[in-house]
Amino acid sequence: MERVYNFSAGPSMLPLPVLEKAQKELVNYAGSGMSVMELSHRSGLFTDIITKAEQLLRELMNIPENYKVLFIQGGASQQFAMIPMNLLRNSGKADYVNTGSWSKKAIKEAKKYGEVRVIASSEDENFSYIPAIDASMIDPEADYVHITTNNTIEGTAFSEIPDTGNVPLVADMSSNILSEEIDVSKFGLIYAGAQKNIGPAGLTVVIIRDDLIGFVKEEVPTMLDYKTHSESGSLYNTPPTYGIYMAKLVFEWLTELGGLKVMEQINREKAEILYSFLEESDMFDSPVKKDSRSIMNIPFVSPSAELDAAFVKEAKTAGLETLKGHRSVGGMRASIYNAMPVEGVQALVDFMKKFENKHK
Ligand SMILES: *Cc1c(COP(=O)(O)O)cnc(C)c1O
Repeated sequence: MERVYNFSAGPSMLPLPVLEKAQKELVNYAGSGMSVMELSHRSGLFTDIITKAEQLLRELMNIPENYKVLFIQGGASQQFAMIPMNLLRNSGKADYVNTGSWSKKAIKEAKKYGEVRVIASSEDENFSYIPAIDASMIDPEADYVHITTNNTIEGTAFSEIPDTGNVPLVADMSSNILSEEIDVSKFGLIYAGAQKNIGPAGLTVVIIRDDLIGFVKEEVPTMLDYKTHSESGSLYNTPPTYGIYMAKLVFEWLTELGGLKVMEQINREKAEILYSFLEESDMFDSPVKKDSRSIMNIPFVSPSAELDAAFVKEAKTAGLETLKGHRSVGGMRASIYNAMPVEGVQALVDFMKKFENKHK
């Protein structure tokens, strides 16, 4: 079987054992004579799938009892609107940290619903670092503070979760959820589109502290109220059933691997292989400040746009796919999410060495 190392930022690689299990169960799931795609979302078999998926995610992330886990749709982008619609419940004010393209979109959307203040930004230096946040910067009256823990396009990540005191912290974790251990209790709400570290596109995971649910205004659509989904166990309408099934398989894979502690070690090892090569290379460089580097998305540049283009093209013929940088930043980007094996990163670095020698 021909498989490539796919460095896509999302949708991205899934663990091969997960794909193989899904393939094995595709046409006849658990002796039902049906595929999971054909099961009623109210059937016993699907109830088992969604219940188990939630249970596994709770165990993996050590999610406290007073948090709800929602499996919904609309992507992280829909959360940009749902968050202000649901969480602007007292002062109508929210503090945002601007660390890149996705933060900017979240900010733009929130401005439609309330008074948004950008308390820190790294836009002055092309989003190449994570600004320092301390409690004194936060408006104690704000209804929440929003951060993007991992900036998929720029390749930066918060190394420490800011202390926001009593103001709930909301985090877009689309590109680093499940990549390392985090303390969920530090957050009011965590959200992530599934297509990076959870499963296929179409599913969005929201983890929300239960005291933040139930404050929407009358005119907010039912489907955009967290309460609708929390009260129905994510079964108000038809949820993305196959995506939830795939997520369950990914959660099982992570659990068998040893959980997030082990996953984090492997992810740090992978990132170290690439970053240490970037340090020693005469051709390739990281545009990101050392203390702000992501272990999931690693952008790098060569001295010219021509070399960048040649690199991406030649890498593809070597089975290293989707290394072109985001159209807004150029250069290259290697997204090395959970499903990317150490061997894939090693193969990339070996190829980079060869390319560097050839084009000296
Ligand atoms: C991919 C991504 C998004 C957008 O997710 P959609 O599910 O496509 O809406 C938002 N934020 C971050 C950090 C991302 O990586």
